[in-house]
Amino acid sequence: MTAMLSMLNAFFESHGEEFRILPITCLEKLENDAHDITHGEYASKFTKAVARFMYDLKLPDPGFDIASIIVAASPSPIVRIFFRHHGRRIPVTMPPTYMEMLSRYKEIEKGLNEKLNPTGHHVIAADRLMQKILAVRSGLSQYGRNNVSYVVGLGSFVRLTSFYSDIPCEETGWYDLTQMPSCKSCTLCLDNCPSKAIKADRYLIDASICLTAANEHQGDFPGWVDPSMHNCIVGCMKCQEVCPHNKKALDNIVEPVEFTEEETQYILDGKPLDGAPEEFLDKVKLLGIEVYYNVIPRNLRALMNAMGACF
Ligand code: SF4
Ligand code: SF4
Repeated sequence: MTAMLSMLNAFFESHGEEFRILPITCLEKLENDAHDITHGEYASKFTKAVARFMYDLKLPDPGFDIASIIVAASPSPIVRIFFRHHGRRIPVTMPPTYMEMLSRYKEIEKGLNEKLNPTGHHVIAADRLMQKILAVRSGLSQYGRNNVSYVVGLGSFVRLTSFYSDIPCEETGWYDLTQMPSCKSCTLCLDNCPSKAIKADRYLIDASICLTAANEHQGDFPGWVDPSMHNCIVGCMKCQEVCPHNKKALDNIVEPVEFTEEETQYILDGKPLDGAPEEFLDKVKLLGIEVYYNVIPRNLRALMNAMGACF
């Protein structure tokens, strides 16, 4: 192992993280994957919208010669948020990865540059690459039947991040987009999916009826969303919480925030972040849900109804 790889290894290992490094030539193959995903038989409106707004495979000019892409997986906790409402303390779940949506990027970028810069090397966040596909193609993870990315030993509760770097990298493997072998004889996620988005007869889930796709977007819930389906403030945990590969990760829960009666009412009333009290804003920022705040009032109301929490 080269000195650079040993350094990367030590850095990620010290944080309980896994990583892979790929030569920049893989970007062309990634572009082919992007094309297949958006033009494939099962490409849904949601998939196309995600591809259009979230991905950008154009090389930036970071001031160094990009030679490689690093893709990393960081364990991410389940977040339990408490809402005080009508004298009750209501626990609400937010799935892993929402909380560190951007923060882990900044931390890794800073930490790696502190180590690399003295050696003349650099990294820069590449947060608009297709991390899930990149992770599978690099051999870092495999897909589950629920199309979620699973990292050996960490399960699916991981935040994937990617970085451009000038660390030289020889050609590496480009793995098939395959499912974990254990999915062949398991239907736990399929059985537990509230909207039946996971199909036994096809590789891709039906994203057009995935609850996550519905509750991450504004507007009325589509007709297929039954009120009893809601289980998270945003997103959905149902297919991941029953997966045997997440057994250990289910204990990784953090409880960073409690909203007061007034703050809960502020959310339920659909009041905006602009002009909100400082303390309330700090809680929203800590949860990292500013980008999803526009759907939170609707989702919280639906979730409280599903939980039988009174209004
Ligand atoms: S629950 Fe079973 S089928 Fe679903 S991802 Fe996990 S191992 Fe695969
Ligand atoms: S996130 Fe929820 S709705 Fe979507 S596939 Fe998984 S269990 Fe089904």
